[in-house]
Amino acid sequence: QEKINHIRNKNRIHCFGQDPPNPCTSFEQLAATYGLNPQIIKNIASIGYTQPTPIQIQAIPAMMDRREILACAPTGSGKTAAFLLPIMHHLKEHKKKGYRALILAPTRELAKQIYREFLRLSEGVGLKAHYISKSTTEKRLEKKYDVLVSTPNRLVYMLQEDPPLINLSQVEWLVIDESDKLFEDGKTGFRDQLAKVYQACNSNNVKRAMFSATFAVEVEEWCKLNLDNVLQVYIGAKNS
Ligand code: ADP
Ligand code: ADP
Ligand code: MG
Repeated sequence: QEKINHIRNKNRIHCFGQDPPNPCTSFEQLAATYGLNPQIIKNIASIGYTQPTPIQIQAIPAMMDRREILACAPTGSGKTAAFLLPIMHHLKEHKKKGYRALILAPTRELAKQIYREFLRLSEGVGLKAHYISKSTTEKRLEKKYDVLVSTPNRLVYMLQEDPPLINLSQVEWLVIDESDKLFEDGKTGFRDQLAKVYQACNSNNVKRAMFSATFAVEVEEWCKLNLDNVLQVYIGAKNS
C-alpha cells in the first residue's frame, strides 16, 4: 500500500471513490495484469510510447476493471490512449454486431484525431472504427464497425430521424472526451443530447467514461449523480 501511495504521489495522481485499482506503471505490467493483446503491446512500442503517462497509469486499470470514471488531466497528457487501450482490450476482435463502443468529442477535428490514434494503436488487431464525417444513412454500414467516433450534434441528428439512421443497441462503452467543453457549450444542450444518446445505448450494462483537461464542477456533479460507483482520477492539483 505504501508503494502504491508513493506511485500516486510521484505521478500526482489523486483518486476519489471506492477501491481505486492499483496503478500500472509500465505497459508490460498492464499486459501481465490484464492480458492485454500482445499485438497492441507491439503497436505501442512501434509508435514509441515507452511508458504510460500519469493518467494512463491510473485510468487504464480502472477501465480494464470496467469502472465508470471521470478523468481529468492536462492537454497533451495522453488521454486518448488512456481510453482507447481499455476499449480495444474489451472489444477484443471484430464482431459483426454493430457499434460496441461510442466516443463523443466536441468537434469533428478532435473526433478525427481520436479515430487516427485508434488506427495506430489497433493496427493488426482487426477491430474496425468509423468516424462520421457526414450524416449519411448508416443502415448499410450497420454491422461493419466496432467503434464509432462522432460529435454529439451529428449523432443526435441521426438518432432523431424516423426511423433512426443509426443503431446503438450494442454499445458497451460510451466515452465523452473533452467533457468540460461539451458541458459548457450551450449548458443544458449537451445534457439533453447525452440523455438521448444514452437512451439509444439500450443494452443492459453500458459503461461510461468522461475525460477532460480541466476540472469542471458541473461535470463532477453530473457524474456523481449519473455514473455507477464513479471513480474520479485527477492529475496534478484538483482545483487547478
Ligand atoms: P490529450 O488528449 O491528453 O490532450 P493526447 O491523447 O492527444 O493528449 O496525446 C498527446 C500526445 O502524446 C500525442 O501525440 C500522443 O501520441 C502522445 N502520447 C500518448 N501517450 C503517450 C505515451 N505513453 N508516451 C509517449 N507519448 C504519448
Ligand atoms: P434506475 O431507475 O435503476 O436508476 P435509470 O434509468 O434512472 O434507472 O438509470 C440507470 C443508470 O443510468 C444509472 O446509473 C443512472 O444514473 C444512469 N442514467 C440515467 N439517465 C441517464 C442519462 N440521461 N445519461 C446518462 N446516464 C443516465
Ligand atoms: Mg484529448
